[in-house]
Amino acid sequence: MKNFKILLVDDEPSNISILMGIFGSDYEMYVATDGKSALEIATSQNRPDLILLDISMPEMDGFEVAYHLKHTKYTSTIPFIFLTAKDDEESMIRGFNEGAVDYLTKPFRKEELLVRVKNHLLKQKLQNSLSEAMNNLQEKMKELDQAEQEFETIFNQSQNGIALTDLETNFLLVNNSYSRITGFTKEELLTRSCVELTDIDDVEKSQEAIRTVMSNGYVENLEKKCIANNKSPNVNISISMMPDKQRLLLNTSDVTKLKIAEKKIAQYAHIMDKNIISSSTDLDGNIIEVSEAFCKLTGYSREEFLGENHNMLKDIDTPESTYKQMWDTITQDITWSGEVKNLKKDGSLYWVNATIFPIFNDDNIKTGYMAIRQDITDKKRIEELSITDALTKLYNRRYFNEVLEKELRRVQRDATSITFLMLDVDHFKLYNDTYGHQEGDIVLAKIGTVLSEFANRAGDYAFRLGGEEFGLLYHSEDLQKAEEYALHLADTITNLQIPHANNSASSFVTVSIGVVFKDSQNSLTSNEMYKIADDCLYLAKENGRNQIQIYKYDN
Ligand code: GH3
Ligand code: MG
Ligand code: MG
Repeated sequence: MKNFKILLVDDEPSNISILMGIFGSDYEMYVATDGKSALEIATSQNRPDLILLDISMPEMDGFEVAYHLKHTKYTSTIPFIFLTAKDDEESMIRGFNEGAVDYLTKPFRKEELLVRVKNHLLKQKLQNSLSEAMNNLQEKMKELDQAEQEFETIFNQSQNGIALTDLETNFLLVNNSYSRITGFTKEELLTRSCVELTDIDDVEKSQEAIRTVMSNGYVENLEKKCIANNKSPNVNISISMMPDKQRLLLNTSDVTKLKIAEKKIAQYAHIMDKNIISSSTDLDGNIIEVSEAFCKLTGYSREEFLGENHNMLKDIDTPESTYKQMWDTITQDITWSGEVKNLKKDGSLYWVNATIFPIFNDDNIKTGYMAIRQDITDKKRIEELSITDALTKLYNRRYFNEVLEKELRRVQRDATSITFLMLDVDHFKLYNDTYGHQEGDIVLAKIGTVLSEFANRAGDYAFRLGGEEFGLLYHSEDLQKAEEYALHLADTITNLQIPHANNSASSFVTVSIGVVFKDSQNSLTSNEMYKIADDCLYLAKENGRNQIQIYKYDN
C-alpha cells in the first residue's frame, strides 16, 4: 500500500499525530492544517489518492474544501472521507451530499478506520483502471471506425471490381465497380454467384481456376466473358483465398475495350501481313520478319527467309553504288526510297518501289531496319516496252532523245566526256532485194547483239534509231580512244562475215559510221551532236562506205 498517497486535513496537531501513527508506516502521507493548503496539495503534482478531511476548521471548513475539490476538474475524482467530531445526522447527510465516500466520527476505532480507508483506496483503484480501460476501448473504437471508413472509401473508389464470395462463389460483399462492370445492383449481385455470371464457354475454365485457388491459394489473370445485365464484358480476374479459408477475394478488371482493341489490331495486322510487302532486318541486314505478301511476291517461305541476309534478293545488274547509297542513307537514320530490281526464288526479276527506315526499341536504341514496298514490276515492264525496239531489243529512238539530253547534262556537270556514234548498214536495200526481208531482219538482230555488247559498261547505251540505222553512246578517255572503239565495232560487224554479194564495199555486210566526241570543254547541243554525226555518216557513205568518219574540231 506504500504507493498510495493519503492527505490528512486537520487543524488539530494532536489529531494529526494520531492519524500519522495509524497510517504513516503503510502509506505515503501528506498533511494540511487548513483548507487552503489542503487544496494546494490536492492540485499539486502529489495529487493524493484519498483525503481524510476534518470539518470544523477556521477560515475554510471541510464542507467548503469538499466543494472546491468536487468543482475542480483535476481533483473532482479524488475520494475523500470526512473524519469529524460532528456526529449529528444533518452534518452526516450534508457530508455525503458534498460527495464524501464515507463519514466517520471521532472518536473512531482504529481498525475500522484502517479497513475503510483500505477499501476505498482499492475501490478507487479498480474504478481508475476501469475508466482507463473504457477510455482505451473508446480510442480503439474510434480508430476502428476510421479504418472502416477508409476501407469503405478505398473499396468503393477502386476502379477494379472487388468482391468477397463463399467457396461456392456466392457473393457476400461487392463494391461499386463490381456493379458498374456487371450492370447489376449490389442487391442483385448478393443473390447470385460469380460462376452464374460466367459465359457458358468459360464455365469450365472458371471452375478449374477455383480448384487451383483451393489448392494453391490464388490464381491470377483468369480471363473470361461475363453474362452481365444487358452486356457481356470481358474481365480479367485474380482470385485469392481469404485467411479464414472460408471466403474468396475476387479482384476483377474490365478488359472489354482492351479485347476489342486487341482484336482490331490483330485484324489490321492480318490485313497488313496479307497485303503489305514488308520485311524487317537487324542492323546487318539479316531478316527477322517478313510479311506473307513479301513471301508471295518472292516465292520464298517465311522459314526460308528468316535468318538469311537481305542481299539474297540482290540482282547483279543493279550497280553496287545503288546499294551503297541506300546503306549510307539508312545508317544515318534517314528514310531511303527508291526503285529496286530484285530476284525471286525462281530467278526471275521483280521491281519494287521500296521505302526503308530504321526501327528503334523502347529505349530508343536502333535495332534494325524495316522495308515496305510496292510491286512496280508491271509498270517497269510497260516502261521498258515503250523504250525498247522489239526486233533488236535495243533502246528505241524515243528513249535515245531522252538519254542523249540527260547524258550531255551529266558531261557538263561531272566534267566528263561522251561519244555519240551513228551507224548505217551499207546497201541494205540491196541486201533485202537479194536475200529477202526476213533475212534482212536477222542481220539487223545480229548487229543489235553486237551493239549491245559494245554498250555493256555502266552508262553506255545502244539504240536502234530507225530502219537499218543504229546509235551508240559510250564513254572513252579521249577522241583517239573513241575512234579506236568505233573501228573495233565496225570490224566486229564485218567479222560476222554475213555474205552480202551486192555490197560494193565488201563481200560481207558492212557498216558506215559517223562519230562525234564531246567533253565539257565544248558546248555542243544534242541537236548539234546529232547533226554532226549524221554529216560524218553521210561523208562515210560518200567516200565509199565500210568506214568511219570522226568529227575533228578546228582547234
Ligand atoms: P546505203 O548504203 O546508202 O545506206 O544504202 P541502203 O540501201 O542501206 O539505204 P536506203 O536508205 O536506200 O535503204 C534502207 C533500206 O533498209 C530500205 C529498207 O527496205 C531497209 N529496211 C529498213 N528497215 C528495215 C527492217 O526493219 N527490216 C528489213 N529487213 N529491212 C529494213
Ligand atoms: Mg539508212
Ligand atoms: Mg543503209
